[in-house]
Order: sequence, then C-alpha cells, then structure tokens
Amino acid sequence: MSASIRSDMHLNKSQYLTGKFCPKRLYLDVHGPPETLDAATQLRLDEGRQVGEWAREGLGGVLVEERGHEEAVKRTRRLMADPGVSAIFEGAFEHGGLRVRADILVRQGEGWNLVEVKSSTSVKKEHLEDVALTRHVVASSGWPVAACTLRLVNRDFRLGMSIEAFFADHDVTREAVFDPEEADATVHALLDALRGPEPPQVPTGLHCRSCPHYDVCIPDRHVLSLPRLSEKRLSELRARNLSRIAEIPDRFSLTATQRRVRDAVRTGAVQVESGLDEVLNRVTYPLFFLDFESVATGYPLYPDVAPHEQVPTQYSLHILPVSGGLVAHRDFLHEDGADPRRRLAERLLEDLGDSGSIVVYSNFEQARISGLASLFPDLAPALENLKGRLYDLCKVLQGYVYHPAFGGSFSIKRTLPALTPGLDYADLAISDGEAASAAYREMIAPGTSPGRRREIGRDLRAYCARDSLAMVRLYEALCQMACRG
Ligand code: SF4
Repeated sequence: MSASIRSDMHLNKSQYLTGKFCPKRLYLDVHGPPETLDAATQLRLDEGRQVGEWAREGLGGVLVEERGHEEAVKRTRRLMADPGVSAIFEGAFEHGGLRVRADILVRQGEGWNLVEVKSSTSVKKEHLEDVALTRHVVASSGWPVAACTLRLVNRDFRLGMSIEAFFADHDVTREAVFDPEEADATVHALLDALRGPEPPQVPTGLHCRSCPHYDVCIPDRHVLSLPRLSEKRLSELRARNLSRIAEIPDRFSLTATQRRVRDAVRTGAVQVESGLDEVLNRVTYPLFFLDFESVATGYPLYPDVAPHEQVPTQYSLHILPVSGGLVAHRDFLHEDGADPRRRLAERLLEDLGDSGSIVVYSNFEQARISGLASLFPDLAPALENLKGRLYDLCKVLQGYVYHPAFGGSFSIKRTLPALTPGLDYADLAISDGEAASAAYREMIAPGTSPGRRREIGRDLRAYCARDSLAMVRLYEALCQMACRG
C-alpha cells in the first residue's frame, strides 16, 4: 500500500469523480507510478491556470495561497467570517473525507455564489458534478451557498475584445445538486477500496474504452475491442457469456467490419474484402498524400479565430506522379508568430494544382480546408474544389481490410506498423499531434532561442512527413493486397 493512502485518508475532487466513474481506476491511479507530465499536458495546465487568473479579474477578492490543505482551510474560514472580504479565490474546505478547493466564492446576501471556472465553451455533465460536489462540501462546512455559476469560455470571443468578454457565465444553481448521503457512502466505499491490498473487482463495459488502464483490465482480443460495439450488442454477448472475439458464433448479428474483425482474430490472418481493387482504382494520378498539423488554444492566438478552433500551421505532401513512380515531397511550416492561414492556403493551392486525388486519413483535412474557404472568399472556389478530390484511406481500411494487430483500432498509429512493418514513429522526437501542437507553440513563443526554434522546426517537419509517408506506404500495401486478390 502506498504511503499516501496510510497518511492521508481524504479524497480530493478529481479522485472522488474518478472513483465514481470506476473505483478500480482510482485505485490504479493512486497506487500506480506518479503521472509524468509531458509538454502538452503541462501546456494545458498552464493555460487552465491563466484562465483561472483572468476569471478573478475585477472581483477584488483574496487568494488563499496556502498549499497545505489544513492551513488553507483555516485561512479560508477566517476570510469567510470577515464581512470586509467580498470574494475568495481557491478557498479550501473539508467535509466527510472530501477536500475541495473552490475557484471563486463571491459574497451574495447572507450566502455565497460559488463560481467554478472551466476553459471549455459548453456546459458538460462532469462540470455539473464538479460544481455539485464543491457545493456539497462548502455547504456541509456550514457556509450557505446561495447560487452556483459555471464561468466558461465565450465561444464568440475574438482577439481584440476585452478580457471580460472572454467569459460566459451559466447559472447552474438548479442543476448542480448532490445527494449528501450518497456522497458520504461513496467516499467511505472508495477509501475502503483504496486501503485494500488488491484493486476492487468492478464490472467492465464500454466506458473502459476511454480509460488509460484499458490494457491492464481488458485482455487482448476481448469483445470490447470490436469497433462500434453498441451497448445492446454487448449485453447480448454477456447474456451468452461470450467475452472473447473468437468465441462469437457465425450467426450472431455483427456489422460487416465487426465480422471481419472476428474472422481475423479467429484465423490470425489479414481479412481482405472483395472490391478492394475497385475502390483503390477510383483514385486519379498524380496522388497527393496530405497531412495537416494544427494548433488550438482556449485564448485565440490570432484574429478571427474562435476559442479552441483548430488553426492549420503546417502540412506535408508526398506526391506519387504515376502508379509505381518515384515519390516527391513538399511541405509547409509557418515558423513565426503571425497568423499562418493565408500563406498556408496559398501554398497549398499551388502545391496541389488542379487535378489528382488528395489522399488523407480521416476528415480532419476536409474540415481545415472548409475553415480556410470560409475565411478567404477569394480563395474559396479553389479550396472548395480540393474537397471534391479528397480520398479517405482510413475509410478504405475500415470498409475492406482488417489485420489482427489493429487491436480494434483504425488509427494510423495501429494500422501502419501492422501493414508496413519497420515504419512507425518510435525514432521521432515528436510522435503525436498533441506533442506537435505543444512544440509549435514553443517554437513561436517570443522567448524561444533561434537554435531551439530550428530544432523544433526540424522535428515538426519530420513528424508531419512521417504521417504523409505513412499514407503512401499504406496505400502501396493495400495495392499489393488487392493484386494478390
Ligand atoms: S479499464 Fe474499466 S475496469 Fe479497468 S480501471 Fe478502467 S474503467 Fe475501470
């Protein structure tokens, strides 16, 4: 048992909410190795902190700076009792084994308005649970909560507006309610589970697919890895006591993709649907294998960008002029702090010319091209034309091919090593889109040295090029499969 459990028998907000989602997940989080913060996560945390600070502007309150919870609770109590204090930031409370920090408390009549700040643009279920839990602990500590507010990011905010316009308040007093008895019972059950020598036994389900501990709990080739498995089908499989994909009988109702997955798992061989050659022949040469990278921030980096809007910053293009020909490469990376979109759109149109299929992997590129078309009316006709030339390789895989090593996923990170052994992302400094976005922001930051900028630029180009080269190799692998019949 870890030292933190023996010495600290409390749950914080995030632990409580995780434990409610799945007690085993909480157990594995708490007893596992400490989480390491990668650059992308650190950037998200920094952004959240900055949004929190802006949300307090103009309220004239007092920040509870004490990091130790007991000290912070004492300080909060003194501030709450002082009628001269109109607002408290990061106030600390404790009740029934739960410890919370309230983002903002504003004195309202005889009670307090509890304001929780989130850098999201819409109210989500987890936000309401967060507010309700904080309300429960504040109220149970003896302080009346008169109102509850979610202070979210205003989706209509644009660069140049005042910081007040960055936020949109949502009154959630009626929605953010909590059953105190249920809370107490849940806290006790979770703390008991955490004290145990083994993780608690819990039912698995579709919710496991988004859990970081999926590989710990779910055996390989489990029915949960069937693509697009519905709750109804899962219940039917459970009713028949079927947990392994290979056990699913032929007559059991599955989608065409799920059937292909089952057959691949049963035989251990790649499954190729008839018609693959026909769908591959629908392309027109030259083939342009296109991959975009983008950046999205809560507080927009550029004018005319909405909070959290994806802004394309670079692309890589591998070009196959004729079938079996030599592949050429072009790319674009916007390297300074100015808005990248106009230059990127113009270069893209130049590089893609007037004809030839544009091979992509998902609908991400289509969405970015649509965004550019609505931003630049003079380029819109040419950009809209590009959309008619798009050819989604992921859809081809989903519709025609399954390799047992896909593990239920058609992500390029799974399909590439399965179909083209030897080509993956392991040798790259940047190996996923989130890391690329974080690196881009570091590259354009004013304080980054020229040497570091060059290094990041090289890493970004290498990562994006690997994505477009991956599509070339996947396309070639599919052509070979189609030839073999
Ligand atoms: S995979 Fe499922 S059972 Fe395992 S910890 Fe995650 S949510 Fe819980």
